[in-house]
Amino acid sequence: MTARVQAVRGMNDVLPPETGVWQHVRDCARTVMESYGYGEILLPLVERAELFNRAVGEVTDVVEKEMYVFEDRGGEALALRPEGTAGCVRACIEHGLLHNQQQRFWYFGPMFRYERPQAGRYRQFHQVGVEAYGMAGPDIDVEVIAAGSRFLRRLGFRGLQLHLNSLGTPAVRTAYRQALVDFLQAHAPQLDADSQQRIARNPLRVLDSKVPATQAILADAPSILDYLDTPSRVHFDGLQQGLSDLGIACVVDPRLVRGLDYYTHGVFEWQTTELGAQGTVCAGGRYDGLVEQLGGEPTPAVGFASGVERLVLLLQQQAAAATGALQVYVCGLDAESQRVALRECERVRDALPALQMLVHAGGGSLKSQLRRANASGARYALVLGSREVEDGVVQVKSLRGEREPELVAWRDVAPRLMEYLAAPPVSAEI
Ligand code: ATP
Ligand code: MG
Repeated sequence: MTARVQAVRGMNDVLPPETGVWQHVRDCARTVMESYGYGEILLPLVERAELFNRAVGEVTDVVEKEMYVFEDRGGEALALRPEGTAGCVRACIEHGLLHNQQQRFWYFGPMFRYERPQAGRYRQFHQVGVEAYGMAGPDIDVEVIAAGSRFLRRLGFRGLQLHLNSLGTPAVRTAYRQALVDFLQAHAPQLDADSQQRIARNPLRVLDSKVPATQAILADAPSILDYLDTPSRVHFDGLQQGLSDLGIACVVDPRLVRGLDYYTHGVFEWQTTELGAQGTVCAGGRYDGLVEQLGGEPTPAVGFASGVERLVLLLQQQAAAATGALQVYVCGLDAESQRVALRECERVRDALPALQMLVHAGGGSLKSQLRRANASGARYALVLGSREVEDGVVQVKSLRGEREPELVAWRDVAPRLMEYLAAPPVSAEI
């Protein structure tokens, strides 16, 4: 047999019905971002390599170690985009969207980084993100975080922690950087090799180290919050007040940094403890320095990017988590319905590997099957008879009166269940 060609390591196929879960994430992003007046922007996957060298910086892992760069046939140095912000700024400058204007954009699409693949970390991955230009904040920072928060809540997540920090003005950063370098140099022998190298080149990034021994040393590192000047303090207080006004809880985390020089003032991340080391599902901040760095007029900017694979993983885990109890009970009302149920439920299991779903066996009337469904403790029943089979649908029925029964096409069952099961009984949205 001829050898097969396999997919590139770290680049995944997404097959139906799991594509339904992706569609759901994208739909949630669209609905929420549009409800805040953000317009969708579509940008090329390939840009000049120079764009990222200038934007993301030569001394970051993303550019130094992770970027896919290549020459095209004309000898031009190009890169697969490792992130969305640089291209968005490039496009805004190119189309004259920034001068005396305010802009709000959102995007969804693939990014590429040559990283070591593991759960939640891939070489082609997807981000959903937003960028807002021309507003100095902190009101717009609050809006961006509120939109992110609403997006994550709409997906059904609870218990994600919002971490917040301020990097202040560039002057604050410079002063802090020096203090941090002094501290790191004094403790250099106890740091991991990567962190030792970063002291001279990108010391703030050391704070981001995932090595436990390094993290332990960093507990005593100076805090940037002690270095904030008055404008930085006022901005940060305004941001925290705004979040508190909206009832958005956050943890101030002075070790939260972005390794890139153009970040200023508020930076933030949503984290979960449920995805191991890949616990950040969304990260962002204010980047007032970037537009100028890319040749535009100085323009205030703020945004975030969220890793879609991590959201999908977390959704699948959480849909299944509900204390290990049975979640779905499937009732096929005749022999043919039962065959369809067995077949289609295998596909639902492919999409939601940890879903706890029991397919009734042994026949019986609707009434007797539903009695068993209720007794099983499941939250939802899937019910199908000859009419449903004919239409390729199934009735999704709440067993606890949470919502009206509805007919759902089989390909939509997995995302629908995921959405319903991730949500606790209806509660107030922020
Ligand atoms: P990490 O510290 O996990 O490497 P990062 O700081 O490199 O993250 P950002 O550049 O801030 O990540 O990207 C924003 C989000 O994109 C991350 O919080 C994460 O959810 C997601 N992300 C980043 N890199 C990857 C990857 N290789 N695979 C999957 N998702 C990713
Ligand atoms: Mg990274």
